Amino acid sequence: MTAQINATVAGVPRIGPGRELKKALETYWKDATTGRNLATVATQLVNQQADALTQAGLDSVPTIGRSFYDSMLDTSALLGTLPARVADIDDHGNDGLPAYIDRLFAAARGTADLPASAMTKWFDTNYHYIVPELDADTEFRLDDAALLSDLSDQITRGTAARPVLIGPLTYLALARTTDGSDALVHLGEVFDAYARLLPRIAERGASWVQFDEPYLVTDIAVDDGRRSDLLARTRAGYTKLAAASDLHILLQTYFGDGDLAVSTLSGTGIAAFGVDLVTGRTDERQSTDTRTADADLLPSWTGQEQILAGVVDGRNIWRTDLSRALATLKTLAARGPVGVSTSSSLLHVPYSLAQETSLDDDAELRSWLAFGAEKVAEVAVLSRLLTGTETETDRTAVAVSHDAVEARRVSARTHNEALRARTAGVTDADRHRSPFEQRREVQARELNLPPLPTTTIGSFPQTAEIRRARADLRAGRTTPAEYHQAMVDEIRDVIERQEALGLDVLVHGEPERNDMVQYFSEQLEGYHSTDLAWVQSYGSRCVRPPILFGDVTRPEPMTVEWFRVAQSFTDKPVKGMLTGPVTMLAWSFVRDDQPLGTTADQVALALRDEIDDLVDAGAKIIQVDEPAIRELLPLRRAQQPAYLEWAVGAFRLATSGVADSIQIHTHMCYSEFNELIGTVGDLDADVTSIEAARNGMQVLHALRESGFELGVGPGVWDIHSPRVPEQSEVDTLLTEALEAVPASQLWVNPDCGLKTRGWEETTASIRVLVAAAEKARATVSA
Ligand code: GLN
Ligand code: ZN
Repeated sequence: MTAQINATVAGVPRIGPGRELKKALETYWKDATTGRNLATVATQLVNQQADALTQAGLDSVPTIGRSFYDSMLDTSALLGTLPARVADIDDHGNDGLPAYIDRLFAAARGTADLPASAMTKWFDTNYHYIVPELDADTEFRLDDAALLSDLSDQITRGTAARPVLIGPLTYLALARTTDGSDALVHLGEVFDAYARLLPRIAERGASWVQFDEPYLVTDIAVDDGRRSDLLARTRAGYTKLAAASDLHILLQTYFGDGDLAVSTLSGTGIAAFGVDLVTGRTDERQSTDTRTADADLLPSWTGQEQILAGVVDGRNIWRTDLSRALATLKTLAARGPVGVSTSSSLLHVPYSLAQETSLDDDAELRSWLAFGAEKVAEVAVLSRLLTGTETETDRTAVAVSHDAVEARRVSARTHNEALRARTAGVTDADRHRSPFEQRREVQARELNLPPLPTTTIGSFPQTAEIRRARADLRAGRTTPAEYHQAMVDEIRDVIERQEALGLDVLVHGEPERNDMVQYFSEQLEGYHSTDLAWVQSYGSRCVRPPILFGDVTRPEPMTVEWFRVAQSFTDKPVKGMLTGPVTMLAWSFVRDDQPLGTTADQVALALRDEIDDLVDAGAKIIQVDEPAIRELLPLRRAQQPAYLEWAVGAFRLATSGVADSIQIHTHMCYSEFNELIGTVGDLDADVTSIEAARNGMQVLHALRESGFELGVGPGVWDIHSPRVPEQSEVDTLLTEALEAVPASQLWVNPDCGLKTRGWEETTASIRVLVAAAEKARATVSA
């Protein structure tokens, strides 16, 4: 029984290198009789993963067992806190699956009769978890059969399995209550439940257990009095857990400075702290590099517990400079026991470079990267070097990795001198337009729109034919000319439909875009889009974030042709439609060798040029979407102002090059705005469309209170379900909107783009929306 871990990773992905779990899940959901197949696929994936990690040289293997959807949801199943409404769901007796599986899926996805639980982003990542639903009366009843049987299987197979559990503080802090009570009152009960579980895990033959407590290293979002009380209760809880069994406890944090965990929980009997030494030591969202020196890391650490140093980046895809990482490890090792790990779970990166065919012709870029399997190998090499058991090959690997990182640093692909000269010449004036009142007047004359103008957010239904046309082109089954014609026909149709519906400001419908980030990344220099580098976003859904590796430039116009086609079919204004710089970064793997703000400005300049070309082609309105601006907001409040400064600056750099007559729109789709109300104004877009339908125009009240004077289009149709709103519902929302802000500021539009909707509900709903605007106009001009 070893009391020390030399090499491990903080967590593992579950979806499978070929998205095997996705396919098995979707088959199961279509036809619940295939439970056996789902069980088999999940077991195989867990076994393969355990074997691969063991063979790669890890001496402790994190295991989440067979996890079918999300770890927070697994935790709810384990603690017996799945929502009460799913309690009566029949479990189909699917042999081989956990007994709660159908209740778990009902909570995650809803059923014909029951709503799904809320889902939200896991900290500042693009992974989504299922939000626990608790109330004051929630009881915590362990349902650990599935966890223990999966663990026994691993132990029997000889895996040094370390179950990974979500820590009580994090679980409750991320939960919601249905009765407005405070979820954290249950802290002691969750600790008690885990205290009952640990001896049962120990009995199965495990020697380590991991608790993930990322919440400990973000701002604890309560007032200071509460904060110290919570930390004290957390400390008492872990003291109890440490005494509950012989298991060694690894307390894992990520996405922040692990020293906060060490200072809170050192001396409680915890055996080791897993810390993020990548995000935890730099704030890559800052405009300057603020990397903490090796000697200054983890000041609270006395050497009493082991540190599992997350020196290999678990959430970005860059190859580690092993010599630099080794230096960090050695500095720490002089102070106490150290093992090697990743900075976070590998859930956030693709499985393996080996299968990534898009890099076959780009050995240079490939040499700069490390996906999951490569990161595991990096951990193993570092741990052998740290323990003095390295081979000649390991020593070579250090030199090779250092050379690769250096090569990336000086490559012409990461340093475009012309672009560097251009960014150096950017002035404050480049980020400013004339005063809004002045623009508003010129634009009113130029556009001549009715009061309460109607528009949509950009995309129209992505039908099966559209997706097929794109796939056919990619596979070479159709010629570029045929594809072009198919898109022209689609755009003509979309324009005709919008004219028939009576919308005032039209869009081309975005049929040519697979994804609002990938579409642009494929056309920008400095970006690489992948073939198979999938990461789980939620449930069975995966995304393929493009890799922003170098200096970003725009070889040629990206959207102008489609705009021209669309505008040629109508006299009404068609919006030019672009994805903003922050969103282009948020949904990509972004270079880590310069501040994010610098990269955002490069993207902004490419967009600025695109906007120029759109204006030359006749565009009078340009929309620059920033749905992700909230998502990149740093978890710690102290770091937020610096982020907002460069994020707003990049948006304004992209959009401030136009004449007063050009109307700039932006779109954001989340409704919890409180932290960002000021930012919406700072962007200085002439019109902002925003999600509001589900929250009864709350956003508008907040905006009004902040003195917002720019144009605003609160969504009056919730597009997230196929339901067509009643006329009276939209009328009411619009009336509320008119009470909150002056009519002269208001636009009428849906909550978000319509690409996931069908034409039937889209047409019917827009008809309702336009009718509501027309009715309201009568009252406004009367
Ligand atoms: N213009 C995009 C669309 O309509 C915006 C999507 C988004 O907000 N995520 O699809
Ligand atoms: Zn949106």
